Amino acid sequence: TANFVADDIADNYPRQVLAAYSYVTPKACQNPTLIAYSDSVLQQLGWTKKQAETAEFLQVFSGSKLLAGMQPFAMCYGGHQFGHWAGQLGDGRAINLAEILTPAKGHKTLQLKGAGPTPYSRSADGFAVLRSSIREFLCSEAMFHLGIATTRALSLSLTGENVVRDMFYDGNAQSEPGAVVCRVSSSFIRFGSFQLPAARQDIRLLTQLVDYVITRDFPHLGAPSPAVYLKWFNEVSDRTCQLVVDWMRVGFVHGVMNTDNMSIIGETIDYGPYGWIDNFDLDWTPNTTDAQGKRYRFGAQGEIAQWNLFQLANAIFPLINQAEPLQQALNDFAQNYQRLWQQMMAAKLGLTLAGELANEDELKLLLEIEEILSCIDTDMTIFYRRLADLPEEQSQWLTHLHACYYNEEDISSDYQDRLHNWLERYIALRDASSKTRAEIRQQMNATNPKYVLRNYLAQQAIEQAEQQDYRLLHQLQQLLTKPYDEQPEFEHFAAKRPAWAKHKAGCSM
Ligand code: AMP
Ligand code: MG
Ligand code: MG
Repeated sequence: TANFVADDIADNYPRQVLAAYSYVTPKACQNPTLIAYSDSVLQQLGWTKKQAETAEFLQVFSGSKLLAGMQPFAMCYGGHQFGHWAGQLGDGRAINLAEILTPAKGHKTLQLKGAGPTPYSRSADGFAVLRSSIREFLCSEAMFHLGIATTRALSLSLTGENVVRDMFYDGNAQSEPGAVVCRVSSSFIRFGSFQLPAARQDIRLLTQLVDYVITRDFPHLGAPSPAVYLKWFNEVSDRTCQLVVDWMRVGFVHGVMNTDNMSIIGETIDYGPYGWIDNFDLDWTPNTTDAQGKRYRFGAQGEIAQWNLFQLANAIFPLINQAEPLQQALNDFAQNYQRLWQQMMAAKLGLTLAGELANEDELKLLLEIEEILSCIDTDMTIFYRRLADLPEEQSQWLTHLHACYYNEEDISSDYQDRLHNWLERYIALRDASSKTRAEIRQQMNATNPKYVLRNYLAQQAIEQAEQQDYRLLHQLQQLLTKPYDEQPEFEHFAAKRPAWAKHKAGCSM
């Protein structure tokens, strides 16, 4: 980071910063406790479990000690929130501790979330509560093991100090345990990192930042030039497209797809009010502040990603000075999305498409299953796993799928007829391929996870952790390292959402 402009006031009072980042010092805590860490992140960084269990590890990753060579900083960025330009936002509770080279010769930035105020904290405190930290820790690791691009989580520590939060439902302030997660990624730079210098017409900083990102994280594109800027935008667009299709595959709803929460390297970032689909519903959003409930719904994620890319295109326009190729890239996004979505749906269903794009009959089948699943509250995750095990005997099909429904009394005969009709056409197409039943089943089960971080499971882990019982947290952590495998000892974690958890959305702050 040394070659681009740093804020030279090493203090954390809230202010506008006309630079890419500001030096800050994490707030030390008196009595931290390490409650979880990720073995696989440790391995990636080339560290051992023994090292993770030292007092020094806890001190460093709770923000209480700096190692020689660390010069922590918070990054400056802006963003569109809920479709409106919000100006400067920045890392209000995130602090980059250090960048390290991994044994695989990659670079990884270690970032503390919840280690105290920065110049970007605005009116907030810079801290994080245990419940939001557990949600980030569990979900980002689960996402990685699902094979989906994401920031990682190395560690989760209690600070030993309380944080006060105004609970929105009763307006009363409540004191909750504070926690720090150490996030890990090759880059924490967001779309909004480019939007802010562009909005300030600081083309020098904008260029420095784009060149820095290309040189560091997209070196295969070659030395920065206007032509390379375009290639870079196309690659960011492709990565973002693949990311959202992956979310759709597993039923993940990000919940705050603002441009400040869009990673420039195409990773899932900012695990705030996210949620997982239980009953398949394209209109569901976990974000209770999304007043119209439209912008951050499950089925809108592709569209919103494209809208966010449009904002990024606007920001980097001064470096390219041609609208047409940027517009073309945005159009390509829509086409790529269709193609990747069709391929993803085909893989979920164990179908081999005749071509790169689905033909008319195939497409009808892909679209219709979403419609059918939406008619009756059908558990998405259970449905696709059971579909892989559909009995040979047609008369058993419908009863085999009964386990996926939330309200058995809703199952009308119209629905059952329609589903049966769809299954007939589906099986005919599936069996027409040269693959064996076993191969098809294996492909489906490698695409459709058995275990996801259902909202109620995260909630239960949180409630227990708030009573200092971390067993469920650790169990879920272990379970979710093999989301596609049958794990008979954990069968109960694959169950439908219980009735009591129905209308609980995600929680973020
Ligand atoms: P988010 O909705 O999580 O993307 O956050 C939007 C902005 O609010 C970002 O600039 C965050 O850094 C900031 N923010 C969120 N929570 C806090 C907090 N507890 N303290 C300081 N800043 C925060
Ligand atoms: Mg954010
Ligand atoms: Mg957040």
